[in-house]
Amino acid sequence: MSTTNMSPATSEPRPTYLSDYRPPAYRATHTELKFDLAPSSTRVTALLHLERHPDSSGERPLVLHGEKLSLQRIAIDGQELQEGEYRLDEETLTIEHAPDRLRLETEVDIDPASNTALQGLYVSNGMFCTQCEAEGFRRITFYPDRPDVMATFSTTLIGDQQQLPVLLSNGNPVERGELPNGKHFVTWEDPFPKPSYLFALVAGQLEKVEDRFTTMSGREVLLEIWVEPANIDKTEHAMRSLKAAMKWDEETYGREYDLDRFMIVAVDDFNMGAMENKGLNIFNSAAVLTHPHTATDAAFQRVEGVVAHEYFHNWSGNRVTCRDWFQLSLKEGFTVFRDQSFSADMNSAPVKRIEDVSFLRTAQFAEDAGPTAHPVRPDHYIEITNFYTLTIYEKGAEIVRMLRHLLGWETFRKGSDLYFERFDGQAVTIEDFVGCMAEVSGHDLDQFMRWYSQAGTPEIDAIGEYDYAKGEYRLTLRQRTPATPDQPDKQSLHIPVRVGLVGTKSGEDLTLTLENPEDQENLDKGGVLHLREEEQTFVFTGLNEAPIPSLLRGFSAPARLRFPYGRDDLAFLLKHDSDGFNRWDAGQRLAMLALEDLIAAHRNGVEKVMDPRVTEAFRGLLTTPTDDKAVLAEMLTLPSEAYIAEQQPVVDVDAIHAARTFVKQSLAGALRDEFLALYQANRSDAEYAPDAEQIAARSLKNVALSYLMSIEDDEGIALAGQQFEADHNMTDVRAALTLLVHSSRGDIADPALRAFGEKWAHDPLVMDQWFSLQVTRPQSDALDRVKYLMAHPAFSLKNPNRVRALIGAFVGQNRVNFHRLDGAGYELLADVVIELNKLNPEIAARIITPLTRWQRFDEERQALMKAQLERIRAEDLSPNVYEVVEKALA
Ligand code: ZN
Repeated sequence: MSTTNMSPATSEPRPTYLSDYRPPAYRATHTELKFDLAPSSTRVTALLHLERHPDSSGERPLVLHGEKLSLQRIAIDGQELQEGEYRLDEETLTIEHAPDRLRLETEVDIDPASNTALQGLYVSNGMFCTQCEAEGFRRITFYPDRPDVMATFSTTLIGDQQQLPVLLSNGNPVERGELPNGKHFVTWEDPFPKPSYLFALVAGQLEKVEDRFTTMSGREVLLEIWVEPANIDKTEHAMRSLKAAMKWDEETYGREYDLDRFMIVAVDDFNMGAMENKGLNIFNSAAVLTHPHTATDAAFQRVEGVVAHEYFHNWSGNRVTCRDWFQLSLKEGFTVFRDQSFSADMNSAPVKRIEDVSFLRTAQFAEDAGPTAHPVRPDHYIEITNFYTLTIYEKGAEIVRMLRHLLGWETFRKGSDLYFERFDGQAVTIEDFVGCMAEVSGHDLDQFMRWYSQAGTPEIDAIGEYDYAKGEYRLTLRQRTPATPDQPDKQSLHIPVRVGLVGTKSGEDLTLTLENPEDQENLDKGGVLHLREEEQTFVFTGLNEAPIPSLLRGFSAPARLRFPYGRDDLAFLLKHDSDGFNRWDAGQRLAMLALEDLIAAHRNGVEKVMDPRVTEAFRGLLTTPTDDKAVLAEMLTLPSEAYIAEQQPVVDVDAIHAARTFVKQSLAGALRDEFLALYQANRSDAEYAPDAEQIAARSLKNVALSYLMSIEDDEGIALAGQQFEADHNMTDVRAALTLLVHSSRGDIADPALRAFGEKWAHDPLVMDQWFSLQVTRPQSDALDRVKYLMAHPAFSLKNPNRVRALIGAFVGQNRVNFHRLDGAGYELLADVVIELNKLNPEIAARIITPLTRWQRFDEERQALMKAQLERIRAEDLSPNVYEVVEKALA
């Protein structure tokens, strides 16, 4: 009949504003869907039970979203609509005069096989699957596709019995049967009202592993993980993680699972990590499949975290969902906080914190300081998929963590209970969440709400003064948030600052007594200082030795904290701080001071000299027995090039690389025997287990090996070769192979690389690693390798994991080569963005990120990067890429 949205949009995309929010004119109460599945033409029949929303004025028409749908039939209450009784454009279907209650029937045809954007219904390796968040459902059928419309769903899937033996959707299967022409069907019913973004279907040749979980009220839940047959031996860890997550959420938050069945499906082509569809989570196979021979420890831990994250969404996201997409962090920030806490409980808590904070301080702080900076609750967007960001997720999680600090766990838990009870089955706002926290605690959280509305990373400048005669320490904190695009002036934030005072004589935490009773009360309640003013002084009394302050312990707020620490102070904290996170941070700060000197020396062409205090600190770490190997491995890891760059006013990629390499080689030279001993002490032939103890030993061993390899020590090279050959587990194999490939010893690396590539040619997740470890090689031939590998038959721009493994790894982790002064790295990325803009706009708009950070570099590089952005801008752009490029060039 008619076709919508088949031509590219010609006008400039327009933003959506939070302030324009209005309840929908109509809501759907029950939705019946029927899919007749065929790759190039799937017929979708929808029967929507619609009624006028009580809050809507009687005037407004019925507007349904729909994109790339070919409408075949439309009827209201059984009456066919004639042309003229409805209006179609590229994004909507409008019915001007609809009754207050109606049953709307539509039939549309869609083309899953050519859906390379991977939103809506698409085909991945012959398997049908969906991705509907945020606005993908409108590519499946005409619908009020917004999260504040919640309906029960009944879904019938029809497919070829041979090609599509497994047919899955949300909820419970209620009917199945055979049909003519070799087809069959299954009908699923989901009794929980849900927004369309949580709809899912999967159809294909899949196998499952199943298990059971008994909930705290004694109900038995069937757990199924569905995968392609070849992956059936890679599900054990995900299943174990799922059961642990279900138990943890009962014990920690009192949240029980609701349906009788919980399913996870692994797919190879997926834009993100995973999706929390009600009862049918769909996962990127990289976030679910593990096997000791194919996945590293990091991958095992990621799977544990993502499985938990998606499961936790069943409450924080599904039962209580978002009113509109500006509230995205309501579900994501809270759920990331929940999954971080879960992983901390399952593994080493300080290491989990160190990893999360490192990620935040490198990547999210950079986002907050760049042209795409936005508040945790943005007030406008052009393309919502561009807002699944580190700010919404990671900074959002930090805000929830701060609430926990301010309230203390027990009160926070009360607030969480109130939130889930009061808003169960509803679509709500961030005010609703914070309001519950205020209500149960009696705290005034109005100022705290600025964390959601103000973009940018606050800076805290601290100074301290000890008065020996009075036994007093005066700590003055000044806060300031730098301007961000659209927000020139910032207001003071309510910042929880956890502190300790470490006695310089005893090395022990001194008792904290505050002069001001209100400060003392806050400290007693949540263990933190409340910084609310632009400048505040906290006076600690009754001290009988001079202290060194340990500030922002556990990284109690997402801020940049500066304090004029001397190097000896840092070496002291590194030894004595009782806060594991700050002990690590003291080491990082000490290393940073040395690195800054060396960066300056490199720029000035002066001979580089290693700071002996860093060497001695490392010697201390290597020679003092510890029972926390996991933390030690982190302490022995130097700040990454990306983190160092974050600290520089103008990023000098070459100087950073040279300085860091110099420090690493100096340490390796001075402490060679200690590193060798550490390596030997942490070898093990025990059967692989992804448990905290083994993971810690492996990371220590591989850190030690990386030092030895940095100086291409003969024994180190021999050990790397043996570790690769021994083929004990992927963590060790990959570490050894990476170090070899990143060395100058092609004679050993090349045959190893070839053997590895041949052995694993059939396994995409291992081949992703094979691609990544080659293109992150620091040598100057890296860009040629990227080009060579892009021509490899196993490379495809249509698979997001492969794009991330090759292009993403190169532009994100190979800074010296991506930022080559001839601009070839930038040009390559622009070429990729231009291609991806047509195939998969969401991925295109993500992979472009490094180019948008041009302001941070020298003039020469700035010009080269901007030239590539201009080149991209000249293309016929998707709204996704358009929005990012416009901001970057604004
Ligand atoms: Zn999430």
